[in-house]
Amino acid sequence: MTDYVIPLPSIPTIPTSSGGDFPVRRVYCIGRNYAAHAVEMGHDPDREPPFFFQKNPNNLDASGEFPYPPHTSDVHHEVELVIGLKKGGTNISVEDALDHVWGYAVSLDMTRRDLQGEAKKMGRPWETGKAFERSGPVGPLKPVSEVGHLPQGRIELKVNGEVRQEGDLNQMIWKVPEMIAYLSEYFELQPGDVIMSGTPSGVGAVQRGDNMDAMIDGLGVLSVKVV
Ligand code: MN
Repeated sequence: MTDYVIPLPSIPTIPTSSGGDFPVRRVYCIGRNYAAHAVEMGHDPDREPPFFFQKNPNNLDASGEFPYPPHTSDVHHEVELVIGLKKGGTNISVEDALDHVWGYAVSLDMTRRDLQGEAKKMGRPWETGKAFERSGPVGPLKPVSEVGHLPQGRIELKVNGEVRQEGDLNQMIWKVPEMIAYLSEYFELQPGDVIMSGTPSGVGAVQRGDNMDAMIDGLGVLSVKVV
């Protein structure tokens, strides 16, 4: 038995709809993966190579509450499809990529947009804007055996009952198999790796007390209260 010199940190997990939890190893997030969102952020929507940043595994949070974070006055919602991998590898082909998927979930890539904007301007990394405590509200992962794969379907976010973001999964610039293949060229993917697949247009700020309802066809609704 290994002796640890400090208490062993717990392994972050996402609940699943099939019983049992999904242990999270890494969280990769793609930027600007829906053309209309790229445009609203001031970028050319043409297909340039994808780019990824990371959140921390323990930023994912299935509690249904999002505590308004410190050092910001502009926290934005980004509704996203989450992909959980059951199998890893390097140089995975696009054709084989979907065989690596365990399941899918609805999530929110909560963003301190003011801090992210500052970081972009200064050419600095995005962690303070993206990888903060409980910045990844997430619903239960649903296995492929239950929901299949999701090349299309409505993706939507309501705040206090009003639609703020809407799109279709088929509008992704880089599709799920392409993201897995691309990441596997740069990193050794492993079971437990999670991909957040980008957000459609309509991102905006939330305030304490707001209720966010994130929905993806086939996956149901993730309700999160800003507290
Ligand atoms: Mn995002």
